[in-house]
Amino acid sequence: MAEIRLAETAGFCFGVRRAVEKVYEEAGKAAGPVYTYGPVIHNEEVVRDLEKKGVRVLHSEEELKDLEEGTVIIRSHGVGKKIYDICAGKDKVRLVDATCPFVGKIHEIVRRESAEGRRILIIGDASHPEVQGIRGWSMDNTDIAASEEEIRGLGISPCNSLSVVAQTTYNSKKFIEVIDKLKNLVYDIRCFNTICNATQERQTEARNIASEADAVIVIGGKSSSNTRKLVEICREECDNVFFIQTAEDLKPLTLTSFDRIGITAGASTPQNIIEEVQNIVRSEF
Ligand code: SF4
Repeated sequence: MAEIRLAETAGFCFGVRRAVEKVYEEAGKAAGPVYTYGPVIHNEEVVRDLEKKGVRVLHSEEELKDLEEGTVIIRSHGVGKKIYDICAGKDKVRLVDATCPFVGKIHEIVRRESAEGRRILIIGDASHPEVQGIRGWSMDNTDIAASEEEIRGLGISPCNSLSVVAQTTYNSKKFIEVIDKLKNLVYDIRCFNTICNATQERQTEARNIASEADAVIVIGGKSSSNTRKLVEICREECDNVFFIQTAEDLKPLTLTSFDRIGITAGASTPQNIIEEVQNIVRSEF
Protein backbone atom coordinates (compact mmCIF):
# COMPACT_ATOMS: atom_id res chain seq x y z
CA MET A 1 0.00 0.00 0.00
CA ALA A 2 1.33 3.42 -0.94
CA GLU A 3 2.24 6.04 1.63
CA ILE A 4 0.01 9.09 1.04
CA ARG A 5 0.99 12.61 2.03
CA LEU A 6 -1.61 15.36 1.76
CA ALA A 7 -0.35 18.96 1.84
CA GLU A 8 -1.59 20.88 4.89
CA THR A 9 -1.86 24.02 2.74
CA ALA A 10 -3.88 22.28 -0.02
CA GLY A 11 -6.97 24.17 -1.10
CA PHE A 12 -8.52 27.35 0.28
CA CYS A 13 -6.37 29.76 2.26
CA PHE A 14 -7.67 31.01 5.60
CA GLY A 15 -9.38 34.10 4.14
CA VAL A 16 -11.15 32.31 1.28
CA ARG A 17 -12.28 29.42 3.50
CA ARG A 18 -13.74 31.90 6.00
CA ALA A 19 -15.61 33.77 3.25
CA VAL A 20 -17.02 30.62 1.61
CA GLU A 21 -18.17 29.30 4.99
CA LYS A 22 -19.92 32.59 5.71
CA VAL A 23 -21.81 32.42 2.41
CA TYR A 24 -23.00 28.85 3.10
CA GLU A 25 -23.98 29.89 6.63
CA GLU A 26 -26.01 32.86 5.36
CA ALA A 27 -27.60 30.77 2.58
CA GLY A 28 -28.84 28.38 5.22
CA LYS A 29 -30.32 30.92 7.59
CA ALA A 30 -31.31 34.14 5.77
CA ALA A 31 -35.02 34.68 5.25
CA GLY A 32 -34.65 36.99 2.23
CA PRO A 33 -32.42 36.87 -0.85
CA VAL A 34 -28.65 36.45 -0.41
CA TYR A 35 -26.07 38.02 -2.70
CA THR A 36 -22.29 38.03 -2.91
CA TYR A 37 -20.62 41.16 -4.23
CA GLY A 38 -18.67 39.44 -7.03
CA PRO A 39 -18.24 35.63 -7.12
CA VAL A 40 -17.09 34.47 -3.67
CA ILE A 41 -14.47 32.31 -5.33
CA HIS A 42 -13.28 31.55 -8.87
CA ASN A 43 -14.60 28.01 -8.87
CA GLU A 44 -17.63 27.37 -11.05
CA GLU A 45 -18.72 24.30 -9.11
CA VAL A 46 -18.91 26.21 -5.83
CA VAL A 47 -20.69 29.18 -7.42
CA ARG A 48 -23.22 26.80 -9.07
CA ASP A 49 -23.78 24.97 -5.79
CA LEU A 50 -24.41 28.29 -4.04
CA GLU A 51 -26.80 29.32 -6.82
CA LYS A 52 -28.83 26.18 -6.10
CA LYS A 53 -29.07 27.36 -2.51
CA GLY A 54 -30.38 30.70 -3.71
CA VAL A 55 -27.19 32.79 -3.57
CA ARG A 56 -26.88 35.22 -6.45
CA VAL A 57 -23.86 37.21 -7.62
CA LEU A 58 -23.93 41.01 -7.92
CA HIS A 59 -21.58 42.04 -10.72
CA SER A 60 -21.45 45.81 -10.36
CA GLU A 61 -22.02 48.85 -8.17
CA GLU A 62 -25.10 49.62 -10.28
CA GLU A 63 -26.64 46.25 -9.47
CA LEU A 64 -26.02 46.94 -5.79
CA LYS A 65 -27.60 50.40 -6.07
CA ASP A 66 -30.71 48.86 -7.64
CA LEU A 67 -31.09 46.34 -4.85
CA GLU A 68 -33.99 46.92 -2.50
CA GLU A 69 -33.56 44.19 0.07
CA GLY A 70 -31.54 41.17 1.09
CA THR A 71 -28.20 40.14 2.53
CA VAL A 72 -25.06 41.27 0.72
CA ILE A 73 -21.83 39.41 1.48
CA ILE A 74 -18.47 41.03 0.83
CA ARG A 75 -15.94 38.41 -0.34
CA SER A 76 -12.37 38.00 0.96
CA HIS A 77 -10.88 40.49 -1.56
CA GLY A 78 -12.70 43.31 0.23
CA VAL A 79 -14.23 46.46 -1.29
CA GLY A 80 -13.84 50.23 -1.05
CA LYS A 81 -15.65 52.38 1.52
CA LYS A 82 -18.23 53.45 -1.08
CA ILE A 83 -19.77 49.96 -1.16
CA TYR A 84 -20.30 50.02 2.62
CA ASP A 85 -21.87 53.48 2.27
CA ILE A 86 -24.29 52.29 -0.42
CA CYS A 87 -25.41 49.38 1.79
CA ALA A 88 -25.69 51.62 4.86
CA GLY A 89 -28.12 53.83 2.92
CA LYS A 90 -30.54 50.94 2.40
CA ASP A 91 -32.77 50.00 5.34
CA LYS A 92 -33.63 46.56 4.06
CA VAL A 93 -30.11 45.55 3.01
CA ARG A 94 -27.97 43.74 5.57
CA LEU A 95 -24.23 43.63 4.98
CA VAL A 96 -22.12 40.63 5.99
CA ASP A 97 -18.44 41.41 5.79
CA ALA A 98 -16.21 38.45 4.87
CA THR A 99 -13.22 40.61 3.93
CA CYS A 100 -10.05 38.73 4.85
CA PRO A 101 -8.66 40.36 8.02
CA PHE A 102 -5.26 40.71 6.30
CA VAL A 103 -6.92 42.80 3.58
CA GLY A 104 -8.96 44.72 6.18
CA LYS A 105 -5.68 45.69 7.86
CA ILE A 106 -4.50 47.28 4.58
CA HIS A 107 -7.77 49.24 4.31
CA GLU A 108 -7.15 50.65 7.79
CA ILE A 109 -3.53 51.60 7.00
CA VAL A 110 -4.55 53.35 3.79
CA ARG A 111 -7.46 55.17 5.43
CA ARG A 112 -5.27 56.42 8.31
CA GLU A 113 -2.21 57.40 6.22
CA SER A 114 -4.35 59.09 3.62
CA ALA A 115 -6.26 61.03 6.29
CA GLU A 116 -2.89 62.39 7.47
CA GLY A 117 -2.49 63.89 4.01
CA ARG A 118 0.20 61.49 2.84
CA ARG A 119 0.51 60.29 -0.75
CA ILE A 120 -0.37 56.57 -1.02
CA LEU A 121 1.31 54.11 -3.32
CA ILE A 122 -0.24 50.65 -3.74
CA ILE A 123 2.17 48.15 -5.28
CA GLY A 124 0.05 45.65 -7.19
CA ASP A 125 -2.17 44.98 -10.18
CA ALA A 126 -4.53 47.94 -10.79
CA SER A 127 -7.17 45.73 -12.40
CA HIS A 128 -7.41 43.30 -9.47
CA PRO A 129 -10.52 43.72 -7.27
CA GLU A 130 -8.46 43.57 -4.08
CA VAL A 131 -6.35 46.54 -5.24
CA GLN A 132 -9.42 48.48 -6.35
CA GLY A 133 -10.94 47.87 -2.93
CA ILE A 134 -7.78 49.10 -1.17
CA ARG A 135 -7.78 52.22 -3.31
CA GLY A 136 -11.34 52.82 -2.23
CA TRP A 137 -10.15 53.65 1.32
CA SER A 138 -7.89 56.54 0.38
CA MET A 139 -8.36 60.16 -0.60
CA ASP A 140 -7.45 61.35 -4.07
CA ASN A 141 -3.69 61.33 -3.68
CA THR A 142 -3.22 57.63 -4.49
CA ASP A 143 -1.24 55.76 -7.11
CA ILE A 144 -1.10 52.11 -8.12
CA ALA A 145 1.96 50.57 -9.77
CA ALA A 146 2.91 46.98 -10.51
CA SER A 147 6.59 47.49 -11.37
CA GLU A 148 9.59 49.80 -10.96
CA GLU A 149 8.98 51.04 -14.49
CA GLU A 150 5.43 52.06 -13.64
CA ILE A 151 6.63 53.80 -10.46
CA ARG A 152 9.13 55.83 -12.49
CA GLY A 153 6.24 57.14 -14.57
CA LEU A 154 4.41 58.49 -11.49
CA GLY A 155 6.64 61.50 -10.95
CA ILE A 156 7.21 60.86 -7.24
CA SER A 157 9.50 63.57 -5.91
CA PRO A 158 11.91 63.63 -2.90
CA CYS A 159 9.64 66.04 -1.03
CA ASN A 160 6.58 63.76 -1.11
CA SER A 161 5.50 62.17 2.14
CA LEU A 162 4.80 58.69 0.87
CA SER A 163 3.12 55.63 2.42
CA VAL A 164 3.50 52.34 0.55
CA VAL A 165 1.42 49.15 0.85
CA ALA A 166 1.36 45.96 -1.25
CA GLN A 167 -1.34 43.77 -2.76
CA THR A 168 -1.42 40.66 -0.53
CA THR A 169 -0.28 38.34 -3.34
CA TYR A 170 2.57 40.56 -4.60
CA ASN A 171 6.00 38.94 -4.96
CA SER A 172 7.99 39.55 -1.72
CA LYS A 173 11.38 39.80 -3.41
CA LYS A 174 10.13 42.35 -5.94
CA PHE A 175 8.47 44.39 -3.17
CA ILE A 176 11.75 44.66 -1.22
CA GLU A 177 13.61 45.75 -4.38
CA VAL A 178 10.98 48.42 -5.12
CA ILE A 179 11.09 49.70 -1.54
CA ASP A 180 14.90 49.94 -1.61
CA LYS A 181 14.73 52.13 -4.71
CA LEU A 182 11.98 54.31 -3.24
CA LYS A 183 13.91 54.84 -0.01
CA ASN A 184 16.72 56.39 -2.05
CA LEU A 185 14.26 58.69 -3.76
CA VAL A 186 11.91 59.92 -1.00
CA TYR A 187 12.95 61.36 2.40
CA ASP A 188 9.70 60.81 4.27
CA ILE A 189 8.58 57.28 3.45
CA ARG A 190 6.56 54.75 5.45
CA CYS A 191 6.53 51.19 4.10
CA PHE A 192 4.04 48.53 5.12
CA ASN A 193 4.80 45.01 3.98
CA THR A 194 1.24 43.75 3.64
CA ILE A 195 2.04 40.64 1.59
CA CYS A 196 0.28 37.48 2.77
CA ASN A 197 2.36 34.31 2.80
CA ALA A 198 -0.44 31.84 2.04
CA THR A 199 0.51 31.43 -1.63
CA GLN A 200 4.21 31.20 -0.89
CA GLU A 201 3.65 28.60 1.83
CA ARG A 202 1.47 26.46 -0.46
CA GLN A 203 4.16 26.47 -3.16
CA THR A 204 6.99 25.69 -0.73
CA GLU A 205 5.09 22.77 0.76
CA ALA A 206 4.20 21.41 -2.72
CA ARG A 207 7.89 21.49 -3.66
CA ASN A 208 8.89 19.64 -0.47
CA ILE A 209 6.24 16.98 -0.93
CA ALA A 210 7.07 16.50 -4.62
CA SER A 211 10.78 16.16 -3.88
CA GLU A 212 10.09 13.17 -1.63
CA ALA A 213 7.29 11.50 -3.64
CA ASP A 214 7.24 9.03 -6.56
CA ALA A 215 4.03 10.61 -7.83
CA VAL A 216 2.08 13.78 -7.10
CA ILE A 217 -1.58 14.55 -7.71
CA VAL A 218 -2.40 18.23 -8.09
CA ILE A 219 -6.11 19.08 -7.87
CA GLY A 220 -7.53 22.27 -9.33
CA GLY A 221 -9.24 23.99 -12.25
CA LYS A 222 -7.46 23.82 -15.61
CA SER A 223 -7.74 27.59 -15.91
CA SER A 224 -6.53 28.29 -12.37
CA SER A 225 -3.16 29.99 -12.69
CA ASN A 226 -2.09 29.23 -9.12
CA THR A 227 -2.86 25.48 -9.65
CA ARG A 228 -0.88 25.45 -12.89
CA LYS A 229 2.01 27.03 -11.00
CA LEU A 230 1.82 24.18 -8.44
CA VAL A 231 1.95 21.64 -11.28
CA GLU A 232 5.01 23.38 -12.70
CA ILE A 233 6.77 23.37 -9.32
CA CYS A 234 5.96 19.69 -8.69
CA ARG A 235 7.21 18.74 -12.17
CA GLU A 236 10.57 20.31 -11.35
CA GLU A 237 10.90 17.87 -8.45
CA CYS A 238 9.04 14.75 -9.56
CA ASP A 239 8.63 12.88 -12.88
CA ASN A 240 5.05 11.68 -12.32
CA VAL A 241 2.72 14.62 -11.77
CA PHE A 242 -1.01 14.23 -12.45
CA PHE A 243 -3.12 17.36 -12.85
CA ILE A 244 -6.78 16.54 -12.15
CA GLN A 245 -9.93 18.62 -11.65
CA THR A 246 -12.16 16.18 -9.78
CA ALA A 247 -12.09 12.66 -8.32
CA GLU A 248 -13.56 11.41 -11.65
CA ASP A 249 -10.24 12.18 -13.35
CA LEU A 250 -8.51 9.57 -11.16
CA LYS A 251 -10.27 6.71 -12.99
CA PRO A 252 -7.92 6.32 -15.97
CA LEU A 253 -4.80 6.67 -13.80
CA THR A 254 -2.68 3.74 -12.70
CA LEU A 255 -0.96 4.61 -9.46
CA THR A 256 -0.31 1.10 -8.15
CA SER A 257 3.40 1.17 -8.99
CA PHE A 258 4.09 4.16 -6.72
CA ASP A 259 5.17 3.81 -3.08
CA ARG A 260 4.89 7.45 -2.04
CA ILE A 261 2.10 9.64 -3.41
CA GLY A 262 1.78 13.33 -2.61
CA ILE A 263 -1.47 15.33 -2.96
CA THR A 264 -1.85 19.08 -3.13
CA ALA A 265 -4.48 21.50 -4.47
CA GLY A 266 -4.86 25.04 -5.76
CA ALA A 267 -6.33 27.92 -3.77
CA SER A 268 -9.83 27.56 -5.22
CA THR A 269 -10.22 23.79 -4.82
CA PRO A 270 -13.00 22.93 -2.34
CA GLN A 271 -12.22 20.70 0.64
CA ASN A 272 -14.81 18.05 -0.33
CA ILE A 273 -13.02 17.39 -3.65
CA ILE A 274 -9.65 17.12 -1.88
CA GLU A 275 -11.09 14.68 0.65
CA GLU A 276 -12.79 12.58 -2.03
CA VAL A 277 -9.54 12.29 -3.99
CA GLN A 278 -7.61 11.47 -0.84
CA ASN A 279 -10.06 8.75 0.18
CA ILE A 280 -9.98 7.09 -3.24
CA VAL A 281 -6.19 7.15 -3.38
CA ARG A 282 -5.95 5.75 0.17
CA SER A 283 -8.42 2.95 -0.45
CA GLU A 284 -7.42 1.92 -3.96
CA PHE A 285 -3.67 2.36 -4.21
FE1 SF4 B 1 -6.02 34.29 1.53
FE2 SF4 B 1 -3.96 35.76 2.31
FE3 SF4 B 1 -5.71 36.72 0.51
FE4 SF4 B 1 -6.41 36.45 3.07
S1 SF4 B 1 -4.86 37.82 2.25
S2 SF4 B 1 -7.60 35.87 1.28
S3 SF4 B 1 -5.31 34.59 3.66
S4 SF4 B 1 -4.32 34.96 0.23
